[in-house]
Amino acid sequence: TEGRNRWRAFDATMAQALLYRRRLESDLRDALAADGEGLSLVYQPQFCLNDSRIIGYEALARWKHPSFGAIPPAEFIPIAEEAGMIAELGEWILNRACDAARAWADDLTIAVNLSPAQIFEGDLTAFVKATLDRTGLDPARLELEVTEGVLIDNPERALHVLHGLKDLGVRISMDDFGTGYSSLSYLQTFPFDAIKIDRSFTQGLDETRSKTGLHAEAIVRAVIGLGHAIGIPVIAEGVETQTQFDRLKALKCDAVQGYLIGKPMPHLIDPLPEFDTKIV
Ligand code: C2E
Ligand code: CA
Ligand code: CA
Ligand code: CA
Repeated sequence: TEGRNRWRAFDATMAQALLYRRRLESDLRDALAADGEGLSLVYQPQFCLNDSRIIGYEALARWKHPSFGAIPPAEFIPIAEEAGMIAELGEWILNRACDAARAWADDLTIAVNLSPAQIFEGDLTAFVKATLDRTGLDPARLELEVTEGVLIDNPERALHVLHGLKDLGVRISMDDFGTGYSSLSYLQTFPFDAIKIDRSFTQGLDETRSKTGLHAEAIVRAVIGLGHAIGIPVIAEGVETQTQFDRLKALKCDAVQGYLIGKPMPHLIDPLPEFDTKIV
């Protein structure tokens, strides 16, 4: 009977989790129907190491649920994907991001994350084009970040869409590089415009005296060399410490992003905040 009780408890937890998820799904649907009420974007600066300035911002989605408070994107993006709402959510995000960037200095870029599901739901290329036309944003200022997961399910269709996007003049970067199974083969499949080194490698740069630290440094060095060999810039994410920053600069990484430079912020202050030159 002890086993059976344990199963009952397990069932109850499962049922609760399922209810909670259904609730989030339905509330997210309502939020989208109400023009994104409770949804917002925050912007995290990307800092160029070659000329020591902020070159653009990555837009990150936020959701303040009316009863549960902040729900992280790692939680609500998959819900939107599975519930068939990612096209709609993705459109809301892209519209917001392009509107925001349109108001910034015109040499700043805006990076927007694409979920793999967005590639397969609706006509993404037509939507991106319509958004660029509506906002008048220079396509060269828009960068779409995709993870290699985008090329797993239906690579042919994904490549078709990615090429269509590139033809619009927007840039496509490979996010979370090195965390999936075959990043290298994807670099050969599609002409990405930039590589983003995943935070897990960046953080290893602090431990250069340990074996894993040495490996992290070797990997970062190799990825930077690879990017440069194929002629595209490499940006490191999750830079939190001065040591990481200094190592990346010494390794000739092109740009960095992370809490050391700036956390994701709801509004851009105009003029841009003076950058803390101590760390450069
Ligand atoms: P990502 O695209 O890899 O985004 C980077 C994540 O790292 C963000 O988490 C960011 O807030 C966090 N981060 C930035 N700098 C640092 C740092 O120095 N240290 C640490 N520890 N973390 C840092 P966030 O905003 O929670 O987003 C998580 C993931 O959710 C994103 O990973 C992305 O995959 C997804 N996501 C966020 N916004 C969107 C969106 O608008 N659309 C789509 N499709 N996915 C999104
Ligand atoms: Ca990203
Ligand atoms: Ca990333
Ligand atoms: Ca990620």
